[in-house]
Amino acid sequence: MRRTLIRSAIVISMDDAIGDLSTGDVLVEDSRIADVRPSIEVAAETEVIDGTGRIVIPGLINAHMHTWQTGLRGFAANWTLLEYFRRMHAGLATVFRPDDIYIATLVGALNQINYGVTTLVDWCHNNPTPDHTDAAVRGLIESGIRAAFFHGSPKPEPKPGEPHFSEVPHPRREVERLLTGPLADRDGLVTLGLAILGPHYSTLDVAMHDFRLARELNLIASMHQGGGPAKTPGGWEKLLAAGLVGPGINIVHGNDLPDELLDRMVDLGVSFSVTPENEMIQGHGFPITGRLLKRGVRPTVGIDLESVLAGDLFSAARVALSMQRALDNAESRKVSGTIPATTTIPLREALRWITTEGARMLGRERQIGSLTPGKLADLVVINASDLNLLPVHDPVATVVMQTSLANIEAVMINGAWKKRNGRLLCDGLEEKKQLLAQSGRRLVQDIERQGRAA
Ligand SMILES: [Zn+2]
Repeated sequence: MRRTLIRSAIVISMDDAIGDLSTGDVLVEDSRIADVRPSIEVAAETEVIDGTGRIVIPGLINAHMHTWQTGLRGFAANWTLLEYFRRMHAGLATVFRPDDIYIATLVGALNQINYGVTTLVDWCHNNPTPDHTDAAVRGLIESGIRAAFFHGSPKPEPKPGEPHFSEVPHPRREVERLLTGPLADRDGLVTLGLAILGPHYSTLDVAMHDFRLARELNLIASMHQGGGPAKTPGGWEKLLAAGLVGPGINIVHGNDLPDELLDRMVDLGVSFSVTPENEMIQGHGFPITGRLLKRGVRPTVGIDLESVLAGDLFSAARVALSMQRALDNAESRKVSGTIPATTTIPLREALRWITTEGARMLGRERQIGSLTPGKLADLVVINASDLNLLPVHDPVATVVMQTSLANIEAVMINGAWKKRNGRLLCDGLEEKKQLLAQSGRRLVQDIERQGRAA
């Protein structure tokens, strides 16, 4: 048995029974957390790591990212959602080859590990062929990240005689191929979910089909919501009436959902993902965070698009929190003429959104999301002795408000170190970076060669 002990660190367990330890030890045995407490005696062969001046937290869970766009970093940063549909989905997405998907997914996932993300929800909706899909899955597996691969359909402009993407049911045969082939192990590091169109982007028939497919195969069905008029107005009511809305349903950018509908969804255990920066940038409206908290539930948080912004999940959580405090403060001024007497959202909330809540969204709250004995050993070590972090008065504040990429010293996934001493443990990283750069350049050249603006 392989044993690793992190000794004398500040531990933020995110497990309510364990709480925070101002000085504590974390013991990992093989792929699992074995113990978390102030002091642990261990056998001689244990690898002991000095955690003095470090903060240990659970690995982060990025609830929504289109990792296939990594090679187009920053390219879409000035686009509204409407431009993004036209220039990305109907444009650049159509010139991706499987190798482009592979290298983007691999490097994008490695970058997530570097940032402290141990579970990535890769919302992949550029799967025109099984080869593209297999390339994405291969990229995730090679990266070593824990991932939920959410399989989705591409959104090109239809060629003459072809149906519009909103009329195309999720391809059952392809999902079954994945479940019996590359993603057959439901307890593996990479598992399957469905990135469906949902009633906002598909016809009612397609939405009904896709919801039923997900339920039959016991897969999470995640969908974008909002951003322009719905393809099927009143679609949610019909899905609710059919009994198809429940805990396996995940809504991304639910900002425009009316109160009454949101109430019903919350009651039924639907999960919600916000991507705060991108929602504000592209035109999705204000994140739904506060409306969820008011109803007693929490959001999960995702990056969305590296073609727009950085893959930094701490920043995303920080933006979601700050944005909601700003909205709450403004509301209070409007109602009572003054700011609230105390803050409306404690910082620990933001850390929950990117740890325990992400685990719950994936239905994996018993396996990941907190430093709890018996759970899988996904954790992050932050160097709190760094210039920008010391002294630590409130470790949660240090983590949520001040930690940056430079402070993420080590990352463990499934009991194995993926980053140590500030460096990713990855062979051939330079070559992978070069391949990503070549891929990104070629995609832009190809679309321009077709006489279309990239
Ligand atoms: Zn998205």
